[in-house]
Amino acid sequence: MILIDGKKEASELRDQLKKKVTEIKSKYNTVPGLTVILVGEDPPSKIYVKNKEKFAKEIGMNSEVIRYPSDLKEDVLLNKIKELNKDDKVSGILVQLPLPKQIDKRKIIEAIDYEKDVDGFHPINVGNLSSGYDSSIPCTPLGCSLLLKKVEKNLSGKHAVVIGRSNLNGKPMTQLLLKENCTVTITHSKTKDLKAECLKADIIIAAVGIPELVKGDWIKKDAIVIDVGINKTDKGIVGDVAFDEVSKVAKAITPVPGGVGPMTIACLLKKYY
Ligand code: NAP
Repeated sequence: MILIDGKKEASELRDQLKKKVTEIKSKYNTVPGLTVILVGEDPPSKIYVKNKEKFAKEIGMNSEVIRYPSDLKEDVLLNKIKELNKDDKVSGILVQLPLPKQIDKRKIIEAIDYEKDVDGFHPINVGNLSSGYDSSIPCTPLGCSLLLKKVEKNLSGKHAVVIGRSNLNGKPMTQLLLKENCTVTITHSKTKDLKAECLKADIIIAAVGIPELVKGDWIKKDAIVIDVGINKTDKGIVGDVAFDEVSKVAKAITPVPGGVGPMTIACLLKKYY
């Protein structure tokens, strides 16, 4: 069984990015800049933003975090985004989600210049990805895709089952797998027999948010299993896959923590590699 080491892969990506930023610096005498906007005090969001800022600094990028209180008015945020869109020193903009209730997430995502949309959530980027064109790709599915390719270079003809259809994970993951010529089944909470679907899969991507949903007897021998889930439980952080059982059957699996999570941050600045 191959234990897919997300920390190691993420660290290799970080080194590649560092080199690229140094190259840009010496060639154009400028450094790419990432601006992250954090609204409110959501504890997980504060940690994500801190890690994103740290990562950008580590690879030599300029990085700025703009912090607003949770009662921020939508107009103020929209005006700040307009300003950042015009600022040549800012190459990437990321508004940390979730946003407080008074702010319309969709309006905010659509206000960001799609070429500066680091998260890949802008409808133009979503459309480009589903049309098979170049686009900014959401970080977590991109990380999953890179990890998959480390185990199996050629995914053509493989049957992939994606569990979950969120805009953040399941849907873009499906597009990336289609691009690799996989046959893709996308499943969700209304899927009739999830176990039966999983048993057909050469590749399973679990992005659900239910601790250890995917069991050992759901897995075809030699399947590759990528676990996106991050679930807080009494026994600590676990994924959407029952790791102990599934790792006995699968050909390769990502652990939680230490699998997809570290790749998500490393893929943030993907346009530079
Ligand atoms: P989400 O928006 O809540 O979507 C969950 C999806 O799972 C939905 O499509 C839902 O179906 C489906 N689902 C729910 N119960 C199901 C069931 N019993 N069987 C099959 N499908 C079911 O979640 P998300 O934002 O995609 O996140 C998923 C997980 O990934 C969470 O644990 C989250 O913390 C984690 N995550 C990890 C990273 C990382 O860096 N590793 C990044 C982001 C998220 P419906 O559409 O029918 O409701």
